Formats: sequence, structure tokens, C-alpha cells
Amino acid sequence: MSARVLSGKELAASIRTEAAERAAALAAAGTPPKLAVVVATADESSAWYVRSIARAAEKAGITCDIVDLGANAAPGLIRDRLAALSDDDTVHGIILQTPLPQGAKLEDLAGAIAFEKDVDGANPLSLGRLAAGLPAFAPATAEAVVAILDHHEVDLVGSHVAVVGRSTVVGKPAAHLLLDRNATVTVCHSRTRELAAVTSAADVVVAAVGRAGLITAEHVRAGAVVVDVGTNPTEDGGLVGDVDAVAVADQAGALTPVPGGVGPVTTALLLRHTVNAAVQAAGRG
Ligand code: NAP
Repeated sequence: MSARVLSGKELAASIRTEAAERAAALAAAGTPPKLAVVVATADESSAWYVRSIARAAEKAGITCDIVDLGANAAPGLIRDRLAALSDDDTVHGIILQTPLPQGAKLEDLAGAIAFEKDVDGANPLSLGRLAAGLPAFAPATAEAVVAILDHHEVDLVGSHVAVVGRSTVVGKPAAHLLLDRNATVTVCHSRTRELAAVTSAADVVVAAVGRAGLITAEHVRAGAVVVDVGTNPTEDGGLVGDVDAVAVADQAGALTPVPGGVGPVTTALLLRHTVNAAVQAAGRG
């Protein structure tokens, strides 16, 4: 058996097109959408990611300001800048890029992002509202997991999903979103015993760890669906996921590729969230 490839490219393209149409309408009505990305790192893969967001935003007619505070920025400076952007009526979406300087914590600083501009669901308030079933922007990567499964018509109702990883940016919010879709969710982490026994009992495995090749054939039941969130840079400048794609392709029924799976959908959803935030701001204005 060779797993069906669950590409994210077509879905991402349709989300980007829709965002561009809505952004143009907003601009024509006097609210040109704007995204601000606050950066405080010299990390090269982070810089690559930020540039790709900026390119996608500009193509969709969304202004993207990269606010580079330098790799040694003090937490107080980052918090003040987030607060200033939150008060700026021309800015509709704010992202705080990771990694952050030593001593700065995302969950702590992201509290300074106005909840209605928190387009990547980083403010703990957003995660709390998500958990409570209240409207909030979900972290785009977590939402992308569900969106890609929906796009490829994977039925989640009543299915057993094993999420590997419990970070506040991916694993936990993905678990909440999957629960909302009536999946039965098991969340695994570094202290989970017998990981392969847990994940191989699942209909869907979501890998969000950050370890190349962690998920092998023994972790996957025959015919299961595997979503690979991991993005691990390789020495030759490439990117691989958390799933050993070659080994798992013979076992899984379907598998998202890296690159070209969750990644492009994540970026596209950030644009959709920014447009949604601008629509809400225009409504308040
Ligand atoms: P993270 O904050 O480092 O969290 C990693 C999680 O994996 C933790 O919960 C950790 O468990 C768990 N873990 C570590 N080793 C494990 C093991 N051997 N077995 C089972 N679980 C293990 O990472 P993250 O920010 O969630 O990101 C995860 C991956 O997704 C990374 O590769 C990242 O680059 C990628 N990512 C991709 C996108 C995208 O757009 N495609 C966006 C964001 C992140 P503990 O909690 O016990 O430590």
C-alpha cells in the first residue's frame, strides 16, 4: 500500500484567493487590512518563515509590517511594542514570532496582544476561550490540522485521534479543535509510555513534536491517516517532518507531506484571520 498524499497546496491557494478578494473589498471600503509581525530573534529558519508570511500577505493585498526588535530585545520592550500595536487602529493582526530572547516567554508576552488582533492565538486568553468553546482565533497551525483533514474529507466524528505533542501553540489547541469536531482525542507527550502502542490504536495520528523521523511504521495502524506538523531543517537546507514518510507510506492510508502539507495552510489561515480581524474592526469603527 502507498499512502494517499494529503497536500495542503490547493486548500492554501483557495484560502489565499478568498482572503485577497475580501482584503480588496475592505481596502475599497476604507479599511486596508494590516498585519504586524514582531520579531526578536536572529534565527534563520524563523526569518525565512517571516519572509514567507510577508510575501503571502503582500500578494493578498494585506500590508505586512515586520517589526524587528533585535535578538537581544528585553521582554519589557517586546511587551511595550505589542501593547502599542494593540492600540494602533491601523493594525488588525499581530503575530509574535518565536523563538524569543533568553528569559522571554511567549505565553507571558502574548498577553499584551489585544485579544481581537491575536490572529495566531498566542494570547492565553485565546487558548482559554477556545477551550471554553467561545469565539477566538485558534493558533493557525492547529486550525490547519483540522482544515486539511476537512479538505480531504477525513471524517472526524467519533474517530480516535492521537495528537503527539502538547505545546500551547500546536498540540493543545489542536486537541481542543478536534474535540469540538467530536473526535475522541488522546494527547501524547515526552512522558507518554509506549507511544507506539497509543498511536497505533488511533484512526488519525497528528505529529507535532519537532523530531525528524520520530513517527515510524510501528506508530501507525494500517490504513490510518497521518498529519505531519513537524518542520525540521536538514543539513542540506531542506525540511522534513516528524514522520518517517518512506516507512509510514507503506502503512498509512493517507499522509500529509512536508513541505507542502500543514505549512502552506497555516500561512494562508493567518491571512484569513487578519482579514476577519479587519472586518470586525471595520464593524466596530
Ligand atoms: P514544542 O513546543 O517543542 O513541543 C513539542 C512537544 O513534543 C512537547 O509537548 C513534547 O513533550 C513533545 N515531545 C518531545 N519529544 C517527544 C517524544 N519523544 N515523544 C512524544 N512527544 C514528545 O514544539 P511545537 O512548537 O509544538 O512544534 C512542534 C513541531 O511543529 C516543530 O517541528 C515545529 O517546527 C512545527 N511547527 C510547524 C508549524 C507549521 O506551520 N507547519 C507551525 C508551528 C510549529 P513535553 O511537553 O513532555 O515536553
